[in-house]
Amino acid sequence: MRQHTLQQLLSVRTGEPFALRNLRLPQGTVTTTSLPQVGDGLLGADMVIADGRIDWLGPPASRDDLPNGFDRAMAMAWPAPVDCHTHLDKALVWQRSPNVDGTFDGASSSASRDSAVYHSTDDIRQRADFALSTAFAHGTTAIRSHVDSGRSSFGRAFATLCELADEWRDRITLQVCPFVGMDEDLEWIREVAGRACHDHSGILSVFVPANPELDRALDDIIAIAGRYGLQLDFHADEILDPASRGLDAIARAVLRNGFDRPVLVGHCCALSVQPPQTLERTLERVARAGIGVVSLPLCNAYLMDRRAGETPRYRGCAPVHEMRKHGVPVAIASDNVRDAFYAYGDLDVPELFRDAVRMMQLDHPLGDWAVAVTTTAADLMGLSGRGMLDPGAPADLILFTARNWNEFVSRPLSDRIVLRDGYLIDTTPPDYRYLDDMEGMRI
Ligand SMILES: [Zn+2]
Repeated sequence: MRQHTLQQLLSVRTGEPFALRNLRLPQGTVTTTSLPQVGDGLLGADMVIADGRIDWLGPPASRDDLPNGFDRAMAMAWPAPVDCHTHLDKALVWQRSPNVDGTFDGASSSASRDSAVYHSTDDIRQRADFALSTAFAHGTTAIRSHVDSGRSSFGRAFATLCELADEWRDRITLQVCPFVGMDEDLEWIREVAGRACHDHSGILSVFVPANPELDRALDDIIAIAGRYGLQLDFHADEILDPASRGLDAIARAVLRNGFDRPVLVGHCCALSVQPPQTLERTLERVARAGIGVVSLPLCNAYLMDRRAGETPRYRGCAPVHEMRKHGVPVAIASDNVRDAFYAYGDLDVPELFRDAVRMMQLDHPLGDWAVAVTTTAADLMGLSGRGMLDPGAPADLILFTARNWNEFVSRPLSDRIVLRDGYLIDTTPPDYRYLDDMEGMRI
């Protein structure tokens, strides 16, 4: 059955219009209102693809003049996903720079050493290119990557990722965000912010320490972002200390300064151990400040509440249900991949989404949660219209065999079909062995 479908798809590479009939689309990824609800969080649809775009979308069997095509037998079709928080400059170094104890401190020291010893231009390029190839094979259309701003390596890391953003621009939109610590020297932060004024950036990324005295430093950061016309993207509350109030401090600073450019905040683990009243007050302010949140469940579950020989009690999940109830836009993203901050991962967004559903109970009903890795993630990257399946959009799709969320979450999604501009692509990720010749790698 699958072979037959693949052959059918390959046979339409002539550019002829074709139809995909009897699809199920995740709720929230189409603005067309005429599609019928067909079970939890799914809409029934027929689709016509022509000239690399979605030419028409309508209810199943509502037209009898569709071009030749394929009956998908109720299988799910997704828009190409969006991964709005990654670290491609650090990725894929596990085999030479593991995290010896799996803790956050262990990750920081291992990553610093890896950068100091190995991060030549060639090293960064080989790993980041491998990561982009992997994400593309899995169907991703846009990625935001933070780039560490250590003085010795920032220049070449930022330049290399911007070069790759150019080279990959027809396949993946790569946003490159210089990543500074809020307690770094302000002159250096200004210099880095100046470098962020770039076609592939425009975003200053800031690590917020768990420190009760954040207001003045946040005002400085907001002033710098204002001066250079930058968006802001924070790492905040990546700790299970209920006294950590980074997200709240950011919301207060945005409101206090009237900052009106997009602000995205990642992690927010501490909110999972705060009293409900504190959470309520914070989320009310976050909604008022127009801030978006990106949850990074795999990296958080790996690092949070880790003690040698003990079982973790707390998993550090951002309270995403409560956030959405307050009207806060929520995305879910990969974060680190095969480095000291997260030992595993493959920049595979649908797989990440399956894990997120199971870890954060995004089900019963699952509703429109798929927007967290498609439509909403694209909006938070300023790429409105991406991660959508509307007529006129590029035919960038993933076709699964699963017909409902239970089937989707239950099995690995390795039998997916990825279409870009209406054409089949090779979904085989690059072989791990392409990284073997890198300095320091041990298999
Ligand atoms: Zn991160």
